[in-house]
Amino acid sequence: MNEFFDPDWGSATLGVRAAEPRTGNREHSASISMTSSYVFESAAQAAAVFAGSEPGYIYSRFTNPTTEAFEKRLAAMEGGESCVATASGMAAVLTLCLSLLRQGDHVVTSSGLFGSTINLFNNVLSRFGIEVSYVAQGDLAGWEQAVRPSTRLLFAETPTNPLVELVDIAALADIAHRHGALLCVDNCFLTPVLQQPLKLGADLVIHSATKYIDGQGRCVGGAIVGDAQRVGKDVFGFMRTAGPCLSPFNAWVFLKGLETLAARMKAHCENAHGLAEWLSEQPTVKRVFYPGLHTHPQHALAQRQQKGYGAVVAFEVEGGREAAWKVIDATRLISITANLGDTRTTITHPASTTHGRISAEARAHAGIGEGLLRVAVGLEDLRDLTADLGRGLRL
Ligand SMILES: *Cc1c(COP(=O)(O)O)cnc(C)c1O
Repeated sequence: MNEFFDPDWGSATLGVRAAEPRTGNREHSASISMTSSYVFESAAQAAAVFAGSEPGYIYSRFTNPTTEAFEKRLAAMEGGESCVATASGMAAVLTLCLSLLRQGDHVVTSSGLFGSTINLFNNVLSRFGIEVSYVAQGDLAGWEQAVRPSTRLLFAETPTNPLVELVDIAALADIAHRHGALLCVDNCFLTPVLQQPLKLGADLVIHSATKYIDGQGRCVGGAIVGDAQRVGKDVFGFMRTAGPCLSPFNAWVFLKGLETLAARMKAHCENAHGLAEWLSEQPTVKRVFYPGLHTHPQHALAQRQQKGYGAVVAFEVEGGREAAWKVIDATRLISITANLGDTRTTITHPASTTHGRISAEARAHAGIGEGLLRVAVGLEDLRDLTADLGRGLRL
């Protein structure tokens, strides 16, 4: 491993150059260490490595050079001391909670949270005595009012899916710290290229690497980034014992993904901004949700807290579900799938897919109308995307 990097490098340089793994063969591009375990020269060396008095890899559930390179590079890009890679983004949330929380602890989060994370809190962690309160995403007073003496964690996702609502990370960190709690931010939608929550005061960051870090829709994985004690010791210790670890092959795909992340995010943002502006001009589009537009109620916060506006755009069409489904069914190029963070642009109707299992009342409360569509903008030419959406909008 080439351990040298300068933390002041920009995110493009860190993505290409931080923590380059290198074996004795001096390969230029990272090779993959596909091995479940490592051998020792002697019984004494095995004992020393197991005891931690001599460095070395033991077993790929918790030590593998390819996974380690991905962890170190992502930590460098987020500005964190330590990172632990996980089997998926959901495994990152679960690992974080099981490592740092205990029975009787309370969590405050937003009702705009990713659906599977809400299910994890409500249906799994609740069985182990971890309580959760949900507040409106942007309502800072609401976050503070929900805090109890047992609150250990504030868990935020910004921007949210599909309405791209933001929350002020620095203000939330302040609330958490005044009440002796930690702040974790799910940074999946923006990546460290566009937003660095740790630098804004958050204690922990989680990722679904499945999205932009992979960037081409190939592998499922995740990561937790934070300080050397909580992540480097507590989360690492949990991973060593419990094992929801990332495969070295997937770690290699993500490591290579980080090399192009800054360039890809720039292109994703440009396309998304162009599409949001074009949508705003369409007569059958009632409203467009994109933090880069001046009409977004949190545009100023996005400018302050983010280095770009991301690539998720939501919009509401006249005519409810029927009109929204027409737009989807008229596409020939855009993929009908709920995934995001891919080179390929995707489209979904949240009310009947990602948010279909919640009651119509709760959906209306969350602002997810029947005419709402979400587009996760990919890397195709903008004019081909507008032509593909334009067909259905004119029907
Ligand atoms: C996809 C996603 C997750 C879950 O990640 P998986 O890799 O699918 O397990 C968590 N948070 C957000 C914001 C996501 O988009």
